[in-house]
Amino acid sequence: MILMRDKRAIIIRSPKLQRIRNNLRDLFYLAVNSKWNEVHDTRRGLLFRSDGSRRSIHDFSPDELAYFRKLQEQEASITDMINRSILSCVTCGKGKRDMVYNKAYGAWYCTECYGMERLSARKRAKIKAKNRRPKSCEEKVIESHSKTFL
Ligand SMILES: [Zn+2]
Repeated sequence: MILMRDKRAIIIRSPKLQRIRNNLRDLFYLAVNSKWNEVHDTRRGLLFRSDGSRRSIHDFSPDELAYFRKLQEQEASITDMINRSILSCVTCGKGKRDMVYNKAYGAWYCTECYGMERLSARKRAKIKAKNRRPKSCEEKVIESHSKTFL
């Protein structure tokens, strides 16, 4: 298991190395996307009979349903893995940028999005210091997320 520091920026200044990094990210993305497509196509295949007519999951045997659910979990797991990996920014989705890891959130942000999150977290912290009042559940979640950038 690789242990990451709380905040880790990966910044590459050389255009040549940036190109290599971007190409490697593209290759990893294509490999992971290929696996996702394979799982997705297998799962979708369960929804059709050999004559091409559509089946409902209510037509599945218990084993088929368990397999269908397992494939759904794999798809979600792969999607989550891609979204939180260094291959792309969890906020804007861009992949050809320098990245910062936010351990508390378990995801990579491009330096631009990380900077904006950090700036808004600082503003929120200042406002919080001025206004102490009961918060809604949504405000608490936003505040908790925001603190990870301070
Ligand atoms: Zn971004």
